[in-house]
Amino acid sequence: MTRATETTASTCCYCGVGCGVLIEHDGATIHGVAGDPNHPANYGRLCSKGSTLHLTGDLAARALYPELRLGKALARARTDWDSALDHAAAVFAETIREHGPDSVAFYISGQLLTEDYYAFNKLARALVGTNNIDSNSRLCMSSAVVGYKRSLGADAPPCSYEDIEQSDCLLIAGSNMAYAHPVLFRRLEAAKAQRPEIKIIVVDPRRIDTCELADLHLAILPGTDVALCHGILHILLWEGWIDRAFIDTHTEGFDALKALVRDYTPAAVADICGISVENLQSCAELIGKAPSFLSLWCMGLNQSSSGSAKNSALINLHLATGQIGKVGAGPFSLTGQPNAMGGRETGSLANLLPGHREAGNAEHRAEVAAYWGVDALPEAPGLSAVELFEAVRTGKVKALWIACTNPAQSMPDQSKIHEALATCPFVVVQEAYATTETCRYADLLLPAAGWGEKEGSVTNSERRVSHVRRAVPAPAEARADWAIVCDFARRLEQHLRPGRSSLFAFASPAALFDEYKVLTAGRDLDLSGLSHALLDDLGPQQWPFPAGASAGTPRLYGDGVFPTASGRARFVADAYRAPQEKREARYPLTLNTGRLRDQWHGMSRTGTVARLFGHVEEAMLSLHPDELRRRRLASGELVRLRSRRGALILPVQADESVRPGQAFLPMHWGDRFLKGLGTNVLTLPACDPLSKQPELKHAGAEVEKV
Ligand code: SF4
Repeated sequence: MTRATETTASTCCYCGVGCGVLIEHDGATIHGVAGDPNHPANYGRLCSKGSTLHLTGDLAARALYPELRLGKALARARTDWDSALDHAAAVFAETIREHGPDSVAFYISGQLLTEDYYAFNKLARALVGTNNIDSNSRLCMSSAVVGYKRSLGADAPPCSYEDIEQSDCLLIAGSNMAYAHPVLFRRLEAAKAQRPEIKIIVVDPRRIDTCELADLHLAILPGTDVALCHGILHILLWEGWIDRAFIDTHTEGFDALKALVRDYTPAAVADICGISVENLQSCAELIGKAPSFLSLWCMGLNQSSSGSAKNSALINLHLATGQIGKVGAGPFSLTGQPNAMGGRETGSLANLLPGHREAGNAEHRAEVAAYWGVDALPEAPGLSAVELFEAVRTGKVKALWIACTNPAQSMPDQSKIHEALATCPFVVVQEAYATTETCRYADLLLPAAGWGEKEGSVTNSERRVSHVRRAVPAPAEARADWAIVCDFARRLEQHLRPGRSSLFAFASPAALFDEYKVLTAGRDLDLSGLSHALLDDLGPQQWPFPAGASAGTPRLYGDGVFPTASGRARFVADAYRAPQEKREARYPLTLNTGRLRDQWHGMSRTGTVARLFGHVEEAMLSLHPDELRRRRLASGELVRLRSRRGALILPVQADESVRPGQAFLPMHWGDRFLKGLGTNVLTLPACDPLSKQPELKHAGAEVEKV
């Protein structure tokens, strides 16, 4: 057996905790992985997914060579990189010439590294001239982005992981942290063991494993979070548990919110949320009397047709109590993907530009265009994920480049996504794994390097930038994502701006980072003092880290000044709106989707590790025992689960953690594991009007015996 002789410090490629890992390898093959005791995200801990990363190198699942087909009816055949990228450049150039720059689109991923993102952004905006570049982070964090910007003025989570350990009262809303951010949950568990007086409130429709730590669990009806927050604020006001001095000095808009929440009486809110008035009162009291109060949230708030309102309603509680900018306090979104933060920073949502700029802001466009040395950046709004795939389906987008993500499994109303991909004239898929549902639709498949095989940087949930280091070469002909993008871009330049100096003359990811960071100088996320070399010297750092700084910034807004026009944080007075699909006779169940402990996204990576099926072996629909009895079903029986958009056949299980009237199905299962397409064949594409994030956690459904 070959033995590992080297260790390379890098990061885990799964969730937004951003744990440091030590990759054990022999220079060619990865043999083991351990938690990095020096990384401030995890101090040596790893969860079940992170600790099995070295087992995910199954070459049978990998994309190894470029493959091309010249007709939809043909099978893809192996080709070489030059032919593959020349062909792609020719097709993109011709499409742009014939149909304009908005006839092409890029759909990228929170799994990419910051340097990859930056290269993609420059390609789309500066070279192609389109804002049609969106990311799967649209499905993940875009409501949090809007929430932070509306309430605090910038997309900047203000807290540090240490605040989780130092807080006196934590509200965990719409987050099964025990499964989705396990290492942080272990840190909280250890803190609670040391200080049992820490109060933990969990708000979730299900009795999830995170509830094991809860002093109070509010099993609210799905989608009622805004009403809950307004109800809590109503009580805080009534009891005088607010910080009037903070409100007066550091905020604006309080009177409008106060007028709104007057109607959110405890009785009314208890009724909307399906909880008791006593529990609502207890929740408000825990928050109102806590010396420090911190909230954590994730997809339960974000994946909603009122996701941005939910985010702001929660942040309102912090502003009303002055619980922000101090130790153990603040609103703290838990980022789903490892580098969704880096994506937002580089402008990788259709509406953004690098350095937390807005694509709709003429001044911002001019700044970036001048820096990139192009005449102008595109003005027309880009398409967000749901809009983008609809534009593909209806033929408006004719050439689509997908990188490091699996929309055929992860997008809502999945049948329509398959239809879009099947009919799109030219689909490029840049992927490490050849087994994903999306790869089937690739006219051109480009093999990408995976974890341990590429170099760059990521930003985790606490704004901490880590250097991701390469331990081994990518297998066969797979290449780093940034290198693929830049190589393609240089070929496309020969069609679109021949004879001019290249915008993509990058020799390394460090060079990309060095160009990118200049665009952050003087902005809220200032990274201009960082470089790959500095991260090697000082270790992972939290932004802002301006030029000349010697350490990062653990906590924001300690001075009570916010990055808004007035310098004050803003109360947001959005009324509660019910989720889009109401329960009705034909669809009496509310279907919720979410994560399993040991699987990740569409399982392209975790699905290759047998050990990770030990926790949950197969797709199962969870229903309360009363719902099984009502339908004369037994655990283990096959059922047809249907929504207005599609149906799946799978076994059902009795599960008391799910309330009657609700159903739960893990998000991970695609058509490799299910009869029918995947979980998202059932979910709906209704989106939050501001964040454009789809409502993946609330669909009307019914179950019947097969
Ligand atoms: Fe990886 Fe997240 Fe687990 Fe850490 S908590 S090891 S980042 S999956």
